[in-house]
Amino acid sequence: MIEGVDPQPKASHFIAGRYVEDTAGAAIPVIYPHTGATIATVYEATPAILEQAIASARAAQPAWAAMSGTERGRILRRAADMIRERNRELSILESCDTGKPLSETLYVDATSGADALEYFGGLAATVTGEHIPLGQDWVYTRREPLGLCVGIGAWNYPTQIACWKGAPALAMGNAMVFKPSETTPLCALKVAEILHEAGLPAGLYNVIQGTGTVGAPLVGDRRVDKVSLTGSVPTGRKVYAAAADGMKHVTMELGGKSPLLIFDDADLDNAVGGAILGNFYSSGQVCSNGTRVFVQKGIKEAFLNRLKERLDSAVIGDPLDEATTFGPMVSEAQMKIVLGYLEKGAAEGARLVTGGARMDRDGFYIAPTVFADVTDDMTIAREEIFGPVMAVLDFETEEEAIARANDTEFGLAAGVFTSDLARAHRVVDAFEAGTCYINTYNDAPVEAPFGGVKMSGVGRENSKEAIHHYSQVKSVYVRMGDVEAPF
Ligand code: NDP
Repeated sequence: MIEGVDPQPKASHFIAGRYVEDTAGAAIPVIYPHTGATIATVYEATPAILEQAIASARAAQPAWAAMSGTERGRILRRAADMIRERNRELSILESCDTGKPLSETLYVDATSGADALEYFGGLAATVTGEHIPLGQDWVYTRREPLGLCVGIGAWNYPTQIACWKGAPALAMGNAMVFKPSETTPLCALKVAEILHEAGLPAGLYNVIQGTGTVGAPLVGDRRVDKVSLTGSVPTGRKVYAAAADGMKHVTMELGGKSPLLIFDDADLDNAVGGAILGNFYSSGQVCSNGTRVFVQKGIKEAFLNRLKERLDSAVIGDPLDEATTFGPMVSEAQMKIVLGYLEKGAAEGARLVTGGARMDRDGFYIAPTVFADVTDDMTIAREEIFGPVMAVLDFETEEEAIARANDTEFGLAAGVFTSDLARAHRVVDAFEAGTCYINTYNDAPVEAPFGGVKMSGVGRENSKEAIHHYSQVKSVYVRMGDVEAPF
């Protein structure tokens, strides 16, 4: 028990409306990042578990699709209410799974999952087709579900990702099999449990555990119609290719190395606040982070001084203490990856402003780190680090900053801080990114489309856009008169 919450789930998988165990699969220990202790164990899905999940989803989907959008939406909205009622328990579980502090999880994780269920629950009944007149004849279109959607999650937002994929899929009449990251297997099980308590018919939202060795056969199964992945670019490449073989629909929410441009005329504290949100929230483990912070020369030293002052006031430690504002890395493996980048930053000549090392305590803590005088060719300016490491680069002109900001294979997000609104819009017009911010950073409300361009992915999550990624259009031609044939 941690703070009254037992992190050990009733069983490893949730299939056909109930928890299912099969200890024949490899054991996956769930490590609490604050201490390094094992707090739960789940077992990787065996081929028999995978088969049960796919078969039950396929069997349940047609009746679900036949229900009205209002009926489906009512269940999703009930689940949203239940998640909000259980927010504290779910937030503690999210903190145990990921190490993110309660000061974040209480406000961002289960609540944003509930937002998605409420939003898509509300939209479900509003989705209609088109009537296209053709003289006396006409065409009408129907927006139909895809069938069986597979969701595969990263480890940074396990509850949110389970809901961001599940809510639009279910709203449109699909079934889902969801595989969380093996690093954070706990939260998606709770989402499944609550959805079914809210009245979701058995089989429509199944969760199975495992690594990529379970994800790959899921993606490859011919009964699967769509794959939605949140993960890194290398995994995205593999999953997209495997899905293409079966001509499956995909949503790819992948990594980034997003630019954040701060002009001399920006409000200093707002710009520093945006840079903190875009680099240190969730200990830097956020895909859309603005990790290349381009600061115009006139404001550079003031920016760095204020940034250091504010970072010094971070409360680092026990994620379950609500006063804590900065927690550990999700895993020892991720911590080691980030430590490798810290070494590269120093070795390639970046100036360490603050942090730069593992902290002298239990768990997987890395101090919030800022490198200044970073140049475009340095490894820490080119590769996604996925940790609390900000790279500050200098710039002089708007044109130069835009060209350098876009000089990356990624295109997930980009931000600009300036008090000149004409410039702000000019800059976002030039950004090669799917999600842009003006005088703010890292907001992700369910009402707005979220996703990347270039190597950062295809498709969009959230908003009305997501409806198109979880459904397909059927055109129906209707002739009122006789059919004229040439012979
Ligand atoms: P990974 O790419 O390592 O893994 C993502 C998921 O894919 C995991 O569940 C993983 O399983 C699974 N997987 C791995 N290989 C395969 C395969 N061949 N077939 C099917 N599934 C597979 O990402 P991380 O979990 O390390 O997450 C970090 C990455 O996610 C970062 O690059 C980050 O930018 C990105 N991300 C993107 C977001 C977005 O919305 N754009 C949001 C959040 C994160 P397992 O790990 O258990 O082996």
